[in-house]
Amino acid sequence: MPLIRAVVVAIFAFIVVFNAAIFSGAAESQHHILILNSYQHGFVWSDEQTDGIVQTFRQIGEDASYVEDMNWQNDPTEDNLRVLHDRYRLKYAGKHIDLIMAVDPAALDFALKYKGELFSDAPVVFSGVNKSIADWLVAGHGDVTGVYAEPDYEGTVRLMAGINPKLRNIYLIYDNSNWGIETGEKMAVAAQRVNTSFAVTALNLLSYDDILKRLAALPADSAVIVGAYSRDSTGQVMDGKHFIKAFSATSSAPLYALYDHYIGYGAMGGMVLSGQRQGELAAGIGQRILAGVPAASIMPNQPTATACIDFHQIERFGVPIQRIPSEATIINRPACYYDWSASGIIIGIVTGVLALGVIAMLLQNIRRRKLAEKELRTSNAELTALFKEMAASQEVLQCQYRELEIIKEALAKSEERYKLHFEGANDGLWDWDILNDEVYFSDRCAEMLGIVDGKIQNMEQYFAANIPPGELEPVLTALHDHLQGKSLFYSCEHRLNTPYGLKWVLARGKVLSNEAGQRIRMAGSITDITERKRNESTINYLAYHDSLTGLANRASLNDRLKRAIISCMEGKDFGALLFIDIDNFKVINDTFGHSYGDRLLVIVAKMFARMDSGNIFVARMGGDEFVILLDTVRSVREAKAYADRTLQLFAEPLKVEDKEFRITISVGLTIFPTDGATAEDLFRNADLAMYRAKDQGKNCYVLFDKKMDDIARNRMIMENSLRNAIANSEFKLLYQPLVCVSTGKIKGFEALIRWHSQEHGWVQPDAFVHIAEETGLIVPIGRWVLKTACGFMGALQQRGYQKLRVSVNISVVELQQRDFVESVLWAIAEAGISPEHIGLEITESLLMESFDYNIEKLAELRRNGINIYLDDFGTGYSSLKYLKNLPIDVVKIDKSFIDDLDNEPIENGLTASIIELAHRLGLQSVAEGVETERQLQELIRFNCDMIQGFLFSKPLTEEKIVELLAESECELAPKIK
Ligand code: C2E
Ligand code: MG
Repeated sequence: MPLIRAVVVAIFAFIVVFNAAIFSGAAESQHHILILNSYQHGFVWSDEQTDGIVQTFRQIGEDASYVEDMNWQNDPTEDNLRVLHDRYRLKYAGKHIDLIMAVDPAALDFALKYKGELFSDAPVVFSGVNKSIADWLVAGHGDVTGVYAEPDYEGTVRLMAGINPKLRNIYLIYDNSNWGIETGEKMAVAAQRVNTSFAVTALNLLSYDDILKRLAALPADSAVIVGAYSRDSTGQVMDGKHFIKAFSATSSAPLYALYDHYIGYGAMGGMVLSGQRQGELAAGIGQRILAGVPAASIMPNQPTATACIDFHQIERFGVPIQRIPSEATIINRPACYYDWSASGIIIGIVTGVLALGVIAMLLQNIRRRKLAEKELRTSNAELTALFKEMAASQEVLQCQYRELEIIKEALAKSEERYKLHFEGANDGLWDWDILNDEVYFSDRCAEMLGIVDGKIQNMEQYFAANIPPGELEPVLTALHDHLQGKSLFYSCEHRLNTPYGLKWVLARGKVLSNEAGQRIRMAGSITDITERKRNESTINYLAYHDSLTGLANRASLNDRLKRAIISCMEGKDFGALLFIDIDNFKVINDTFGHSYGDRLLVIVAKMFARMDSGNIFVARMGGDEFVILLDTVRSVREAKAYADRTLQLFAEPLKVEDKEFRITISVGLTIFPTDGATAEDLFRNADLAMYRAKDQGKNCYVLFDKKMDDIARNRMIMENSLRNAIANSEFKLLYQPLVCVSTGKIKGFEALIRWHSQEHGWVQPDAFVHIAEETGLIVPIGRWVLKTACGFMGALQQRGYQKLRVSVNISVVELQQRDFVESVLWAIAEAGISPEHIGLEITESLLMESFDYNIEKLAELRRNGINIYLDDFGTGYSSLKYLKNLPIDVVKIDKSFIDDLDNEPIENGLTASIIELAHRLGLQSVAEGVETERQLQELIRFNCDMIQGFLFSKPLTEEKIVELLAESECELAPKIK
C-alpha cells in the first residue's frame, strides 16, 4: 500500500512539475541575455552549449533574449567582422543587455572587444574555451568569468591503452584551425606522457579521401583519436558527426573522441567533455551574476570529462567487457531481462505509468497545437493574398516609373537640341561683297572680333594683319581653293587677333556666283572655339604627361622611344634606356604617408627634369619608377657614365618639408638596338637589370645582359615553387645554440629556416628569403616559423627546460604588417609559453629604414616581455650612437668582425668597443659565426656574453637539440669550459 501511495504522489508531483516546465516559457523574461557563437547554427559543440545555457536559464524563468550565430568561422576576415559589427550596432542600438554568454574563443574575443560599444558593457561569461586561450583573452578585462573546456587527453589515451593492451600506434585526426592544431599538439604530448613508446602520427595534412584510405589499412595495434574536426586539409567542410561516421565505417582500428557528441556515431568512446554540461555550468555562473555577484569575484571553473563507451563498437572490435572501466557510461547496451532487479521492475512500472501520463498530456498538447496550426494557416493564406496584391501594385508602379524615365530622356534630348540651335544662332555671321571687297559682320560677330562699325575693307589685308605669322598660309589656301571651286565649302580653324587677345575661331562659308558664273558674294559664320581648343590642349597634355610630376608619361615615352629606335636603326647609331626605381620608397610611403611620398616624387622628378634636353627625354612610368631615354649615345661607356651621373644626383641628402634624409636609386641600363629593337623588349630588359641592381644591394646601376633573361625565368620558377612550399610542408626549422661565455651553458637558440623543395632540392635561406619578401610570401612563412619555434619552445619547457629562449629572424615586410604585434602575441599565447622565452631578430639596416614606425612596434613587443635582438650589427649604418635609443635587449655582432679576430691582436678593436658600449647601455652581446678557438679566447677576453657559431654547433634539428640538451645538462659546453 505505501508503495502505491508513493507512486500516486510521484505521478502527481511529476505532472505539476511537467506542466510548470512546459508553460513556464510564457513567463516574462526578467533580463536580456545575449548568446554569442562565432560558428554557424549546426556546429554541434556550440549548439549543445547554447542548448545547455538556454535550458538552464529557462528553469529559473529567464530567457536568452538574443542568440547570435555569427557564422564568422566560415569567413574569418576583417571585412566580415566589420559587417557583423555594423549589423549589431544597428540591431542593439537602444537595447539593454544584462549578460553576454560567449561559447567559443572568437565569440569571447568579439564580446570583450565590443561589449562597451555594442552590448551595454554587460558582464561576459565564456564557455567552451580552453584555459590558455581564455586566460590570454580575458587578461586586462574585469567583468568576465566562465567555464574552461579542457578535454582529458591523457585520460582518453589511458582508456585506449586499457581497452587494447597491445596499443602501439596512435593516429591523430584534427583540422588545421588554431583550435584544431592546438588539440592535435596536446593529443600528441598526452600520448607520449602515457607511454613514450607510442608512435604518434598526425593526419591533419591529409585530405578527407586520403584519411579514409589510411584508416582502412591500420594494423591491429592502432587506435585513432579525433579532436576538433570540422574541415579537411583541402577546406572541405562537414559536420563532425558525418566525418566520424565515415571514418569509423572505413577504419580498421577503433576511433576515440574527446567530445560526447561524437559518441554514438562510430566512436568507440573516450574521456569526453559535454557541450550541454559546459552550457549548464556557464549558465549557472550567469545566474549568479544576474543575482548581483560581480563577475570578477567568480573564479572560472572546469567540468571533468567522463568515460563514455559505445557498446556497438565494443562488439565490433571484440573488446572483452572487463576491459571497460566500471565507472564508464555505456551507450547502446541492449537491455537484458536478467539485469533487472526487483527495484528495477518497480521503477519500470512507475516509469511506465508516468509515461502514460505524459502521453495523455502530449496528446492534449498536440490537439491544441493543431488548432493553432490551422489558425496560422488561415492567416498565412490571407497574408499571401495581401502580398500578391502588393506585388501587383508594385509592378504597376514600376511600369509607370519606366514610362516617366522615357519621357524624361526625350525631354533631355530636345533640351539639348534647343541649346545647340541657340548656340548656333549665337555664332557671328559675315557677308563678303567680293566685287567691292567689303566684309559686313552681324552685331554678334563684330562684338566677338572687336570690329568697329561692323565692317572691314579688304578681306586678305584683314587676315594678314590679324592672323599670327606662319599661320596665315593655310587659311588663304583654304579660301582660294573654295573660290576656285576646289571645295564645296570653306571651312578653316585658325587663330585671330582681337582687341580681347588671341582667339581660336572656326570660319565657315560658301561663295555665291551670278548668272554669268562670276563670284560676287561669300557668306558664312564665325564661331569662337577658344574654349574648345584650350580643353583639347589640356586633354592632349594630360594624355602625354604625368599629372603628379608634369613629366612625360609612359604613352609619350613609348612614342619617343619608337622614333628613337627607328632613327638609330637608320643612322646605325645607339641609344640607351635607363630604368630608375627609388630604393625603399614603399617604406617612406608607409612611414610618412602617401602625400609626403608624393612630394618626394615631385622633388625627384624636378631633379631628373633638369637633365631633360634635346637628346635626353625623361618620363615617369608610375609609382616610384622613372625612365631616362638617351636618343643617341656614342658608346656603352657614355651610357654608363650617364647612369653614374644619375646616381650622383642623390649623393646629397634631400629635404622634403622639415625632414632631411638620404635616398638612393637603383638603375637598370639597356642599349638599343643591340639589346632589343622594340619598346616592349627594351622596357623588359631595363626592368630586369634594375631588379638585378636591387639584388646587388641597391644604390647602383646594372647593364642588361642576355643571361638575365634566364635568371628571371629561374626566379619565376622558384617563386612558383615557393608558393606551394607551405602547403606541401617543405619547410623545416633548425636551431643553432647560443652559449653563455661565462658558464658554458646553452642559453637559447636561433631558429633558422631550411627549404626542401620538390623541384630544387635543399635551398638555403639566402637564396629564397628575398624572393619571399618581394612577393609577400614571407608573411605566411614568417608566421609558420614563429608558430613552429614557439611550439618547440613549449615542448622543451614540458621536458623541464624552463630557462631557454628561441629567437626568430623577422623581415621588414613582416614588421610592416598592421597586425604584426598581435600575431606575435597570439602565436606565443597559443603555444602556452610566456613572452620572455621568445626573441625577435631584426637587422640593423631594416630598423633604420623606417625608424619611428618600426621602433614603436618593437617597443610594444618589448613591453610585452619579448626580447629584441639587433642582428648583423655593424653591417648597416653602424650607428653606435643610435643604440641607446633603440628598444633592444641584445646586440648580435656580425660575423665579419669576429673573422677579424683571427688576424690582428688589437687591444681596443671594434669588436671590443661594441661589446663595451653594449654593456654600458645595459645590453647583452652575442658574437655570430664563431669558428675558431682563437676567436673564442679573444671574445672571452672582451667579456662577450654569448657566442653562436660552428665552433660550438651548427644549426640542428629539434631531435638533435633535445639530445644535445640532455648531454649538456651534466656536462657543459665542452669547447668553452
Ligand atoms: P642570420 O640571422 O645572420 O643568421 C646567421 C647565419 O649564419 C645562419 O645562416 C647560420 O647558419 C650562419 N652561421 C652560424 N654560425 C656560423 C659559423 O660559425 N660560420 C658560418 N660560416 N656561418 C654561420 P643561414 O641559416 O644560412 O641563414 C642566413 C640568413 O637567412 C640569416 O642570417 C637570416 O637573415 C635569414 N634567415 C634564416 N632563417 C630565416 C627566417 O626564418 N626568416 C627570415 N626572415 N630570415 C631568415
Ligand atoms: Mg639572425
